[in-house]
Amino acid sequence: MDFALSDEQKDIIKAAREFAEGEFPEYMEECDVNETFPRDLWKKGCELGFVGVFIDEAYGGAGLGYFEDGLIGEEFWRVDPGCGLSVLASTFGSQLIQLYGNEEQKKRFLPPLTAGKAIMGSAITEPDAGSDVAGVATTAVRDGDDYVINGNKMFITNGTIANYVNVLCVTHPEEKNRHRRHSVIVVETDREGFEANKLTGKLGIRASDTAEIALNNVRVPKENLIGEPGNGFKQFMGFFNVTRVHVCSQAVGAAQGALEKAIAHIKSRKQFGLPLASFQANQFKIAEMATRIEAARSLYWRAAWLLDNGIQDHRLVAMAKWFCGEMAVYVANEALQIHGGYGYLREYGVEKYYRDAKILEIYEGAKEIEKLVVARAILGKV
Ligand SMILES: Cc1cc2nc3c(=O)[nH]c(=O)nc-3n(C[C@H](O)[C@H](O)[C@H](O)COP(=O)(O)OP(=O)(O)OC[C@H]3O[C@@H](n4cnc5c(N)ncnc54)[C@H](O)[C@@H]3O)c2cc1C
Repeated sequence: MDFALSDEQKDIIKAAREFAEGEFPEYMEECDVNETFPRDLWKKGCELGFVGVFIDEAYGGAGLGYFEDGLIGEEFWRVDPGCGLSVLASTFGSQLIQLYGNEEQKKRFLPPLTAGKAIMGSAITEPDAGSDVAGVATTAVRDGDDYVINGNKMFITNGTIANYVNVLCVTHPEEKNRHRRHSVIVVETDREGFEANKLTGKLGIRASDTAEIALNNVRVPKENLIGEPGNGFKQFMGFFNVTRVHVCSQAVGAAQGALEKAIAHIKSRKQFGLPLASFQANQFKIAEMATRIEAARSLYWRAAWLLDNGIQDHRLVAMAKWFCGEMAVYVANEALQIHGGYGYLREYGVEKYYRDAKILEIYEGAKEIEKLVVARAILGKV
């Protein structure tokens, strides 16, 4: 394992940084205040090849790794988490198709995502099934060559703007093992009976679209079922091993952005006739923030490197996910604190990291659930 970045990786970082610094400022405040998705920005991100770099070249991607996808995630979230999420999560679900879909499904669903012609989502969570993924109750009943889907989904990223969504449904209600009851079915959002309502009033990542979805007798051809029927729970666990690594990159990027704001502030503001940066208490804060960021980066880079070498280490991914999320919330809080009252004002741009970072401890597996995964992997059945 060698984490010395290649020239190509350094170029990716540079290009992603230039894109984020150059383009995001036009959108980030307006999209945060008005909770609007930056559609033009997403299109530009696709045109420049930042979206879905991990998708195979045969299906319109760059054929790079989850490591490179993480490098882009870091740079985007460093400048603005809301815009970063909106652009990169437009492929949310493609990873599952890439892992488990057949040739026809990959050809149908993947190329439009990198071409800026389609947005995707993944609908697992329901009003009564969040952390308990196996508790998902949406049903898909076979009727001739179709499945007929009924149920409700909650908190679905891209819900009102997606062209298609991976839906986790119960297809095998009779199965005793609750982890073998589900399948993943791709549902095109223009199908009759599909209804999405935008959830407004979010604390952070307000540029990102979040919706509740109702599926009322939505008829979908059987060809839209991904992989083997009854494997949906397992497939989503594999999917999360990939996407949680990307969430870690979001955390490292947001923390890095907050840290840079903190450094600039304490170097420029004086109190007691001295720069804030000269006080040891503030120096310790900077040292602790920077160290935690590096520790988080090392942890998730290792998980990403393993993924790109064909190894899904769910224990390591769970460790990285909770650690990176908690780290980002800690760093954003300290960065705000070091700004004193100015940190509390929107104008200084640090309160946004504080609001945006919190989601990193919640979505794609709350941190408590990640810790349970780690503990179970260590302790076994107790
Ligand atoms: C902005 C946003 C975007 C999202 N995007 C998506 C998406 O695109 N697709 C999707 O399917 N979902 C999405 N989600 C849903 C998200 O993944 C869930 O909110 C998350 O998994 C937690 O589920 P819950 O909200 O039902 O909380 P609950 O499961 O009710 O948990 C509440 C609290 O209890 C804790 N808890 C629960 N069970 C246990 C346990 N056994 N032991 C210890 N603690 C426990 C949790 O850790 C948490 O702190 C999104 C959520 C948000 C807010």
